Amino acid sequence: MTGSVVLVGAGHAHLEVIRRAPTLRSAGIELTVVAPRWFRYSGLASPVAAGLLPPSANTIDVAALARRCGVAHHEATVDAIDLPGRRLRSDDGAWHPYTAVSFNVGSVSRREFTAIGDTINLAKRVQENAAPGQIMLTRATYETLARSGDATTANLRPCAAVQLKGRQQATELYEVI
Ligand SMILES: Cc1cc2nc3c(=O)[nH]c(=O)nc-3n(C[C@H](O)[C@H](O)[C@H](O)COP(=O)(O)OP(=O)(O)OC[C@H]3O[C@@H](n4cnc5c(N)ncnc54)[C@H](O)[C@@H]3O)c2cc1C
Repeated sequence: MTGSVVLVGAGHAHLEVIRRAPTLRSAGIELTVVAPRWFRYSGLASPVAAGLLPPSANTIDVAALARRCGVAHHEATVDAIDLPGRRLRSDDGAWHPYTAVSFNVGSVSRREFTAIGDTINLAKRVQENAAPGQIMLTRATYETLARSGDATTANLRPCAAVQLKGRQQATELYEVI
């Protein structure tokens, strides 16, 4: 195939395509990307969220990347497609003709997390293991209570260690009685 390929979105999938634009150009394919200018790379989201790296560490300047790779970048989002006319409209009203178009616009679904990490995963697995109405604790929580002095462990009964999904070792659990 030769001609004009429009990439809609400049995230994980299309960034690599943009980077390969020179190879595609030598094969007769010219790229245009229609996407917002800034993109946050998920691979570095955790260290940025933890404050170990500055926000700039996972922020990709799509306009600069496109310029370096000789790709036309239109800073906008696509809001309409004219299939018979083989063209896309961006939200600033411009139309973009294409020979082929590739959509990789991520997901609009949004999850509301207030906390993430191993402790949360473990808590979920313990919860899944409990019967209705049963309250279960891990050994770490049991020991914290035992050390705290202001809570009693007398009403906690050890259960048989269980192999929780996704964990390498069996987890010691206690039940509130
Ligand atoms: C913190 C985090 C960690 C993740 N870790 C993993 C992992 O370890 N393994 C894994 O497989 N997946 C992981 N994912 C999921 C993965 O990032 C997505 O599945 C992947 O990004 C989808 O690729 P994409 O190119 O379609 O979309 P994205 O990378 O989300 O990029 C979408 C792009 O489209 C643009 N856009 C949206 N709408 C329009 C529009 N109408 N017009 C033009 N542009 C538009 C956006 O601005 C963005 O530039 C993670 C996601 C997050 C947030």
